[in-house]
Amino acid sequence: MNKQETLERDTKYVLHGLAPVPVVLTEAHGAIMKDIEGKEYLDFQGQTSGVVVVGQDHPKFVKGLHEQIDKLIHTQTGFVNIPRVLLAEKLAQLAPGKMRNNCKTYFACGGSEANEIALRFAMLRQKRYEVISVYGAYHGRTLATASLCGQSWRKGGNGTNGEGLIPPYPGFHQIPSPYCYRCYFGQTYPGCHFECAHSLEHFIQLGAGLDNVAAFIIEPIQGNGGHVHAPSKEYFKIIREICDKYGILLIIDEVQNGIGRTGTFWASDQFEIEPDILITGKALGNGIPISATMIRGDLVTEQFSKGEWAIFSLGGGPLLCAAGLITLDIIQEEKLVERAAKLGKRMMDRLKTMEKKHLLIGEVRGKGVFLAAELVKDRKTKEPAVEEAQMVAKKSLDRGLLINLNYRVGHGNVLKVKPPLTIRDEQLDKGMDILDEVLTEVEGGN
Ligand code: PMP
Repeated sequence: MNKQETLERDTKYVLHGLAPVPVVLTEAHGAIMKDIEGKEYLDFQGQTSGVVVVGQDHPKFVKGLHEQIDKLIHTQTGFVNIPRVLLAEKLAQLAPGKMRNNCKTYFACGGSEANEIALRFAMLRQKRYEVISVYGAYHGRTLATASLCGQSWRKGGNGTNGEGLIPPYPGFHQIPSPYCYRCYFGQTYPGCHFECAHSLEHFIQLGAGLDNVAAFIIEPIQGNGGHVHAPSKEYFKIIREICDKYGILLIIDEVQNGIGRTGTFWASDQFEIEPDILITGKALGNGIPISATMIRGDLVTEQFSKGEWAIFSLGGGPLLCAAGLITLDIIQEEKLVERAAKLGKRMMDRLKTMEKKHLLIGEVRGKGVFLAAELVKDRKTKEPAVEEAQMVAKKSLDRGLLINLNYRVGHGNVLKVKPPLTIRDEQLDKGMDILDEVLTEVEGGN
């Protein structure tokens, strides 16, 4: 099939959930992707927000998958399989804070599924059904997890996506997030007394059922929301205290943050978060669909160890768990967490230089290789530069750089940078050069 024919057949037979990009990708080598006509692209997306973490053709990854395929691909979820045992054990060894060596893991295939499991567990365990999340959050696109997203498309009903027509899950609410660049309380950090964190307590007392909140869920660094994060660990300390005071489980969604990308194994490590439940997915399988709901061991009562309370037929299969194990092995052997911190510094220095040069950039932020530049039309009014951000993404694509925006979320004006952690220094510099040039062009009205 040539490009034209592939696009035509795609239009005829494939149902897309997001607007399709007319690029037919056929190969990946490290951080480089190739299309059907041989054009090369530098992957600053990690394909779907950081999924590809060690590179798709990493020899150890490919060899390990082949070996597992030769042995065993799938088992019914009730049977015990060795890769699943090893992966759950490894995740327990790597878990943050008090969860270390004290957690049990349920495996599914995607982040939305893993969050569904966390919600189901929290509701059954606490015998409550209300859940609180924050503005700008993204936790999935199933009916329940979509109701946790504090994003414009969900409220919609504007004829373009119709999602606003679907009623939100009962008892799911949002409160302001720690978005200092656009503080909901008009405050400035430090000196703001973390009103955003304290708003959780106000909401529990006044907005939700006082004894009915099962869980609070949050991403340490918002992925789809545009890499927004709290200014310090103090935010999470306050949140933890409020959760403890009201008997609420703290669910930390690291589907995008986790597995080394932010310069520590978990973003929770940097903010010293003590989760009750930790969610990971995306990068865990380096593109093979696996996600994990890690639950603090002492919370897992017999009801859950023995009972029939959850099943996803494909979750935790030996091939998928082998992908997780191999990915984690590569990350440890090649010290990719340390590399993420180093690469992140190199990229942040470049972005800071661009911030000085390009008035279009309102703020650069993020941690490790999880960075963003928020574009504004005017630094004083902070009016989101949505069209300009789209132009930057489009022009970058034309020049062979794949870069994501915070897709129609908040404002759609944030450029997000998330290459595989195995990207070479010179590739990284090349991508940053392209971004710099494209920003100059867009500012010049070209
Ligand atoms: N949580 C977060 C933080 C995410 O970024 C995503 C995906 N963007 C999800 C959950 C949902 O994951 P999936 O698309 O694999 O269902």
